[in-house]
Formats: sequence, C-alpha cells, structure tokens
Amino acid sequence: MSKILSIVVPVFNEQDSISPFLERTRPYLAKALSLMGAGARGEFLFVDDGSSDRTADMLAILAGSCADVRSIRLSRNFGKEAALAAGLRHAVGDAVIPMDVDLQDPPDIIPDMVRCWLDGARVVNARRTDRTSDRWFKRVSAKAFYRLINMVADDPIPENVGDYRLLDRAAVDVINQLGEKARFNKGLFSWVGFRVAEVHYAREVRQHGSTKWGMRGLWRLALDGITASTTAPLRIWTYVGLTVALAATGYAGFLIIRTMISGVETPGYASLMVSILLLGAFNLISLGIMGEYVGRIAQEVRNRPLYVVETDSIRSSETASPPAGDDQWTDQPMRA
Ligand code: UDP
Ligand code: MG
Repeated sequence: MSKILSIVVPVFNEQDSISPFLERTRPYLAKALSLMGAGARGEFLFVDDGSSDRTADMLAILAGSCADVRSIRLSRNFGKEAALAAGLRHAVGDAVIPMDVDLQDPPDIIPDMVRCWLDGARVVNARRTDRTSDRWFKRVSAKAFYRLINMVADDPIPENVGDYRLLDRAAVDVINQLGEKARFNKGLFSWVGFRVAEVHYAREVRQHGSTKWGMRGLWRLALDGITASTTAPLRIWTYVGLTVALAATGYAGFLIIRTMISGVETPGYASLMVSILLLGAFNLISLGIMGEYVGRIAQEVRNRPLYVVETDSIRSSETASPPAGDDQWTDQPMRA
C-alpha cells in the first residue's frame, strides 16, 4: 500500500508566513515522497488556532485549490499545544511531522528524517545544534528549563529537540489516546518511546511575522511541562520536614542542656523556640504526606497506559502496526 506523509502545521495569525512556508517546504516534501516508493502521497494539515487575521481565508483558498492542503479551524485560540494535539488527531499519514509555519524548522532535513524512518526508526528527533538565531534570553531560559526538567522529570526530555520531529503512525496512535488535558507535547513525544533516530539542524530566524509566545505563555508551558512530567515538587516537603525536625530536635537538646548548666537567660525562649521548630517540622511532614497522595492521584488521573508494546510476534504477521482503538498493546482500554 502506498504511504502517506502528513505535515501538521499549527498556525495563529500567520497570514504572511503560509505561502512562503508552502513554497519552501514543497520541494523537500516531494523529495521525501520519492524515497517512499510508488504512489506515496503528502498532505499539509494546517490547524488554524483561532486566527483573527486573514489566515482562515487563505487556508480556505489553499485547501480548495491544492490537493495536498487540508485545514481545520479551532473555534478560538487554544494555544499551540492544543492545536498540535488536534492536528495529530486529524492527520492521516503513516508518518507525521509537526512543524512551525515560520520556517524556523528548516524543511531541508525532511528527506533525512524520512530516510531514518524508512530504515526502521519510529520516532526521528530533530535536534537544534545551533540556537544563535534565538534571542539571548530565550536561549538561556530554554537551557535552564531543560536542565531543571531533566533533573526532576521521571522520563528525560532530550535537550534542544522541539516539536519538529517525525512520528510513525504507531507513535501517533498512542499519543492520540492519551487523555491528559494539560498537554506538554515534547514530554509525550519522548514518553512514547519506540526506536528513536536523530538528525541535526541549525535553528533559523523567524522569516515572517512575529513570535506568538509571550513570556506568560512560555512560563505556563514550563509549569505544564514540569507538573506533567514529575510529582517531585509535591513530595520534597516530607524530606524538608524531616530535616527540619531533626535539626529542631538537636537544637532542643542543646537548649535543654544549656538551661540546666547555666540557668534560664530569657524566660520562655527555649520552650517557645523548640515548640515553633517542631510544629513547623510536623506541618512540613504532613504536607509532604499529602503531596505523596496528591502526586499519586495526579498520576492516576492522567491515566497514561502502563506500557506500550512495540512488536508482538503473534500479531505482527497480521498487521504491521496496530489499528487505532485496538487496545491489545496496553493492559487496559484507553480513553479516546
Ligand atoms: N502557534 C499556535 N497557537 C498559538 C501560538 C503559536 O498555533 O497560540 C503556532 C505559530 O503560528 C507557529 C508555531 O505555533 O506556527 C510556533 O510559534 P512561534 O514561532 O511564535 O513560537 P517560537 O518559535 O517563537 O517559540
Ligand atoms: Mg517560531
């Protein structure tokens, strides 16, 4: 059966970027399709994330006149992560590449990614080796963020790999069935596993329009990323509380002995100090215990599958990849 390659492009007020994007990307898509064998087809799936400029009109015209362009429009601006999730769900490709429309993700490497995919990789990460095109603050904050999240996250997130990557249908199907609402796509893409390959590229400057991520958006994304990948911030309080309790007990012992040796200096000081420290410590410990439970509740609510099966020797002779909605690769039916 001939293969389909989907390029999923979330757009928000990008009227000036769409045509240059298509113009620059199409030749590389054609090159990639030629690697994929006879009858291979490509589709550009634009997700209009509630644009208020002429983006919607342009997409309607393009979708009407070009066989390889499809577009869906969200009812308002839901943010890039939600738009990308919508795009992944509506893409029909055997492989899907999420891409920014501003040409910061250079299309030149699409044929390389497809080559890795044809060689058997199910996920092909595109790693930015050169970020000098980003502003100083973005570079430094991104680096600090990856440092932090990889210190605390349960599953590491590769540094300098954005949403731009190739995902095999098997990976897309798994991601589509994850029910969590606070979407942090980079975390999900690396959580999903499978055989991973990597290609490298230099980050380019935005070609048209201006960035749609303000400080607030990035901050919220960072918080979503951390809370979606780890419960450590909830759980540290048990240990902070235990440490304080230990120190308080030591200090109490010291105060008691000192009072016995040299008498009372300031009446009430020793007893007040010790009770404040110990009560504070008990508070922290009980917060930590709550955190342990809340963290587990958060994990249960997220309802990620326990594991994802890559190949099954019995089934693999029937189908190359499990059809969507088939739950044989997890131990429980997942929410759609
Ligand atoms: N985008 C979106 N919804 C938003 C913000 C951004 O669909 O609320 C799209 C935007 O049109 C672009 C991509 O996400 O195609 C990346 O956005 P941008 O280039 O502004 O982010 P940056 O490269 O500055 O991180
Ligand atoms: Mg950009």
